[in-house]
Amino acid sequence: MLKKLFQSFRFPLRRAAHPRSTPQVLGSRQHSVNRSSISRNAVMVVERLQKAGYQAYAVGGCVRDLLLELPPKDFDVATSATPEQVRAEFRNARIIGRRFRLVHVHFGREIIEVATFRAGHGADDAEEDSNRAAHHESGRILRDNVYGTLEDDAQRRDFTINALYYDPVTERILDYTHGVPDIRNRLVRLIGDPRQRYQEDPVRMLRAVRFAAKLDFDIEKHSAAPIRELAPLLRDIPAARLFEEVLKLFLAGRAERTFELLLHYDLFAPLFPATAQALKENPEYTGTLIRQALINTDERIRLGKPVTPAFLLAALLWPALPARVLQQQERGLPPIPAMQEAAHDLIAEQCRRIAVPKRFTLPIREIWDMQERLPRRQGKRADLLLENPRFRAGYDFLLLRESAGEETGGLGDWWTRYQEVDDSTRRTMIRDLSKEDGGAAPRKRRRSPRKRRPASQSGGSDD
Ligand code: ATP
Ligand code: MG
Repeated sequence: MLKKLFQSFRFPLRRAAHPRSTPQVLGSRQHSVNRSSISRNAVMVVERLQKAGYQAYAVGGCVRDLLLELPPKDFDVATSATPEQVRAEFRNARIIGRRFRLVHVHFGREIIEVATFRAGHGADDAEEDSNRAAHHESGRILRDNVYGTLEDDAQRRDFTINALYYDPVTERILDYTHGVPDIRNRLVRLIGDPRQRYQEDPVRMLRAVRFAAKLDFDIEKHSAAPIRELAPLLRDIPAARLFEEVLKLFLAGRAERTFELLLHYDLFAPLFPATAQALKENPEYTGTLIRQALINTDERIRLGKPVTPAFLLAALLWPALPARVLQQQERGLPPIPAMQEAAHDLIAEQCRRIAVPKRFTLPIREIWDMQERLPRRQGKRADLLLENPRFRAGYDFLLLRESAGEETGGLGDWWTRYQEVDDSTRRTMIRDLSKEDGGAAPRKRRRSPRKRRPASQSGGSDD
């Protein structure tokens, strides 16, 4: 597939040790990017800026993805015009961002993001990453917008494959960092000294993994080498920024591979410390449950089905619950309150690392609560549960637990059948439960306070 892209172009095999000031220029016949594959609005923005006398290019992920014949997520433009100058050219433009100001040019639902060339100051692109900006010298400089040349702009980017500039007017690609050969060799390579670039912005370690997983690339060996040692730096990243990154990591359609890479590079533990502990203590169950959840997520994305971060997070954290439930029980709490406390504590602890918003933590709790309720099917309970808006997520979660080897006494199958059969069969199924007293006794039953499973097969009370 990449043959055509490189057929008439020879790349030097040796890498330049230092940044060059002349870019490699690929003419329209030397690459496969086509003007027509760029969003018309992005082309329009570039043309308008160029006509006004500025330099302007499509840049970053869109050029990379088009070279790989993947559909770009969005189209970013880099320009020599300042944000004010950009805004002056378009009626539908708005300046956004406090620390680093960008212009959003609106075309109906499409937004073209236009950034002024800037020089690298070590920090990152996260707009709201204000902690760092507020406390570090480099942050202050960035907030003041240190603009730069086109080459500065290329050098401050993270990976060579993300630093390609495409001019839709001349159809040429400018490559200051050997990004095109790295695309050919399927390598994620940091621009500059890897250790320094990770220290400047540790999130780049996660980005390296994200692109490697998403594009099926390797992380080039010098870029990979310092990651394990520097992984703990992720603990200093503001929790809000990490939440955004974690969503991108796990919702890009390659979550399973991403997880393996995160483990391989010791990047998982700083993100999910409690789960990492569970993985150590109970590798088979924890690993299977998480991998299965990620495989399901990837499959849903492939089929164009919606995925909810809450379900994924519920799965990622679930294996860390039993140890905490046990602690609470040892403090003397009965099973249900112990589970509630443990869930609350675990989520609070996780949020200190990754700021999961309330709109997701509530459904996580509901999915977990559902695990306590699904075994209790007596009387009208089963029908009430079916009507619960969280039933589907709870039921899917039950199947997930079973697929990881959790013993539930056939509960998943029971619920599958219950959903399929007619009303009178349902009544029979409920009656049969009472006969067997199938883990669903309606009577108030004292349960052993030493029971260890967070999602027990029998239930406790409904209150
Ligand atoms: P995707 O297709 O996943 O959006 P992308 O390459 O467009 O990938 P973005 O996060 O949208 O990634 O960032 C846009 C561009 O900004 C990148 O291609 C890269 O050049 C630059 N960039 C983003 N984050 C950083 C960072 N932390 N450090 C340096 N450059 C960055
Ligand atoms: Mg992007």
